[in-house]
Amino acid sequence: MQNLILKNYSTSQLQWLIRFSVLAIILLILFLGFGHKTHANENTSVTVSVPTLNVRASAEISASVIDKIHEGETYTVIKTSGDWDQIQVTNQETGWVANWLVKETKASTDTNEKVTVTSKVKGLNVHTANDFNSNVIGQINPSKSYPQLQDGGKLVQIQTQQAKGWVAAHLVNRQTVQDTKPTKATVQAPILNVREQPGISYGVIAQLKSGETITLTAESNGWGQINIEGKEGWISEQYLSKQPSQPTVTKAAQTSKASKVAVQKNEKPKTKSNDHKTPDHQQTNTLSGKTIVLDPGHGGKDNGTTSINGVHEKQLTLETANKVAAKLKAAGAHVILTRTNDTYIPLQKRTEISHEDHADAFISLHYNYSQYPYVKGLQNFYYNQSRDGALASALHDALIKETGLSDRGDGYNNLYVLRNNSQPSTLIELGFLSNKTEETVVENDTFREKVAQGIYQGLLNYFSR
Ligand SMILES: [Zn+2]
Repeated sequence: MQNLILKNYSTSQLQWLIRFSVLAIILLILFLGFGHKTHANENTSVTVSVPTLNVRASAEISASVIDKIHEGETYTVIKTSGDWDQIQVTNQETGWVANWLVKETKASTDTNEKVTVTSKVKGLNVHTANDFNSNVIGQINPSKSYPQLQDGGKLVQIQTQQAKGWVAAHLVNRQTVQDTKPTKATVQAPILNVREQPGISYGVIAQLKSGETITLTAESNGWGQINIEGKEGWISEQYLSKQPSQPTVTKAAQTSKASKVAVQKNEKPKTKSNDHKTPDHQQTNTLSGKTIVLDPGHGGKDNGTTSINGVHEKQLTLETANKVAAKLKAAGAHVILTRTNDTYIPLQKRTEISHEDHADAFISLHYNYSQYPYVKGLQNFYYNQSRDGALASALHDALIKETGLSDRGDGYNNLYVLRNNSQPSTLIELGFLSNKTEETVVENDTFREKVAQGIYQGLLNYFSR
């Protein structure tokens, strides 16, 4: 083939062609090597932003198509060359995509949150790629949890002992592991196993003895993370006594209500919510006698997340809380805000306010952020299902109805202001500041009116149970 082409050229033409080719190759090497910054960052990933995207064998539009990927799917970027990203399509396959057809997914601002994935079903298939049609490389069972690597929408990527793989998002439970401020604790059991992951099914990597003091760096559903001999390990918190002692106000409030009321000098006397339940359980339109603590998330040096437009979460939570407060006050409630201006209030102080004021409901207001721009919706969290579940779901249902945001459900989350609260409490994530459409909605004053109406209606429903 080559000879066939070459034989048509004269010697001088051929020499020129060779020189030109050598020059072109040198230029190409310079261009690839120095002209473009190569992203060595292994954490960069991209999400497909068109319905179908061709994956090509090399970084040019004329290169052959080796695969097709789909909107919303997320892939890790191996390197970048000009306008092209080389991505890891499956464990075996890499390919090039035009980077004007994908969105780079920034790392989440909530870097202190990790997610673990547990299957809801036996024998859940693990796929090689973010695609139900990709090969199955194994199966997982509900007995074990795995760290989540990426949220790809319909599938999530996990790390199993053997490999990275993708499982159906709707068939797994996902739990957020919250890094906490280091807390000291003392071992109470004669021997306490340190495990690889939070759960009794995981391997034991070390043991602690009664009386040993350790520092917890993260917590997940009753398990605490510690560092031991340079490795991360997990211990059951039920055998620990924490040193900054947990609030014991629940008990105090039940056993010595009189003394508690006396402590509150300037406040009007409070009564427990049960005393105010309407005798016939009929709904009224008044919140008279109820103490509601509203907690505008973040503040001061803590901005929370930042929207695409550059608005800080701390500003939106305060504006929202003010609207909600006005609505609830008008309905007769005694409303307390954990902050009324742009100041930093430690989480501990926020829960103390809830305790001291014997909140009938503690409501923490937040706005959410995801590295995946398509993620949207409203979500409520509780820590203690029996104490907080009814409040969380009453507010959740009313807010979904009033605001019309997508429903991300209500569920357990190990969040400080809930975990360390003695009062019925919920934390509401009022939509995603990382989603273009939702951001525009939630930054509008009309939205805050709807939130106020939703919380008011939700509280009426809750107290009228
Ligand atoms: Zn927040």
